[in-house]
Amino acid sequence: MSVSLHQQVRVGAYVAKQTLMGRDKYPLVLFLEPLFRCNLACPGCGKIDYPAPILNKRLSVQECLDAVDECGAPVVAVPGGEPLIHKEIGEIVEGIVARKKFVSLCTNALLLEKKLHLFKPSPFLFFSVHLDGLEEEHDHAVDQKGTFKIAIKAIKAAQDAGFNVNVNATIFDNMTAEQVADYLDFATDLGVGISISPGYAYERAEDKEHFLSREKTKNLFRDIFKIGKERGRKWNLSHSSLFLNFLAGNEEYMCTPWGSPTRNVFGWQKPCYLLGEGYVSSFKELMETTEWDKYGTGKYEKCSNCMAHCGYEPTAAMDAVKNPFKMFKIPNMFKIRTEGPMAPEIDLTNARPAEDVHEELVEAEMTKIKNEKKAAAKDKEKAEVAA
Ligand code: SF4
Ligand code: SF4
Repeated sequence: MSVSLHQQVRVGAYVAKQTLMGRDKYPLVLFLEPLFRCNLACPGCGKIDYPAPILNKRLSVQECLDAVDECGAPVVAVPGGEPLIHKEIGEIVEGIVARKKFVSLCTNALLLEKKLHLFKPSPFLFFSVHLDGLEEEHDHAVDQKGTFKIAIKAIKAAQDAGFNVNVNATIFDNMTAEQVADYLDFATDLGVGISISPGYAYERAEDKEHFLSREKTKNLFRDIFKIGKERGRKWNLSHSSLFLNFLAGNEEYMCTPWGSPTRNVFGWQKPCYLLGEGYVSSFKELMETTEWDKYGTGKYEKCSNCMAHCGYEPTAAMDAVKNPFKMFKIPNMFKIRTEGPMAPEIDLTNARPAEDVHEELVEAEMTKIKNEKKAAAKDKEKAEVAA
C-alpha cells in the first residue's frame, strides 16, 4: 500500500496507545472543512447546496488549529468546498504540519499550480487531488471540460516542486471495472498514491441516479481486483488491504463514524463526515452526546448504501489491531477473494426512516450569521462613538 512507512508507524503507534488506554471510541482522521464554497459544481457533490451567506463563511486559522488540538487525530483531511479558495489556507496547513499531524489537502487542483508557493514540501503534507477517472469520465463527473488536463499539469508541477501527491476518486455506477482499472494503471504510472471510494448517496446531490448500491459496489470491486490480478499490476492504493477486502464483499463491517469526526462552519457535525444531522460546539460534546447507535447500515435509512472509506477505513484499521493475523492473510490486493460467496449483507428492514433535518439546520445557521452581523455592527458603532 502506498501510505509511507513514516505515516504507518506514527498512526500505528497512536492506535496501539488508544487500545492500551482501553479507549473504544477515538478519532483517526479529522475532516476539517474550512469553507463550503467551491469553484466547481459537481453533480454528485453533497457539500455545496447552501445559501450564499453560508458558502461565504470561513473557519479562521485559530478555529482550524483549535479543532486539530481538541480532536487529537493523527491525520487531518482538509476538504471543502475547495480549500485553496480560503485566503489563509497556507497558514492553516503550516499550523497543522507544525503539530506533526499528517495533512491531506483535498483539492480539485484548478488553483493548485497558482497557489503552490503558499506551501512547503513536508513528509507531513499531501495534496489529495480530486480525479474521478480518466479524462472523459473525470470531466463528465465534475461537469467541466478541461479539468482533467489542468489537474494532471498541477500534479506534475507539485511533484516537481517536491510535494507528495495523491489522487482521490469517487466511483459512481457509470464506470466499468475496466475503466476503473485503466485509471488505477494511469495514476500508478503517474507516481501518485490513490484513494478510491464508492460515492455516498448525498440527499442534496444534484445527480442522485448514479450512486452505487452496496451490492453493485461489491461486484464492481471484485471485478476491478480480478483485472488487477490478471494484469499483475501493483496499484498504489492508499488503503488498508482489509478495507479493500470489505469493498470486495468479504467482510460484514459496521462503520466507525467517530473515527472520522468532522468540523466545519456549522460546528462539529453529528454523526460523521457524510451525514449532517446536527451540530455541537466542541469535539468532547460530539463524542459524548452523539447517539452513535442510531447510525450505520441497517440502523438508519440514510446509511443503507454507505461503503465510503471515511466510515469504514477506521473499522478496518481497528480490526487490523484486534486481529493482526488477518493482515498476514491479506497483505495486499492480490490476496483478496474475488470469487465465491460474499459475507452476509446487513438486514435493512429495521432501519429507521430518514429524517429531514437539512432545512432546519440551514435556517438555524442563517439566524446565527444574522445575529453575528448585528452584534459586529453594534460593536463597530460603539467603537466609533468611543473614538
Ligand atoms: S470539487 Fe469537490 S467540493 Fe467542489 S463541487 Fe466537486 S465534489 Fe464538491
Ligand atoms: S454508514 Fe456510517 S459512515 Fe456511512 S453515512 Fe452512515 S454513519 Fe456515516
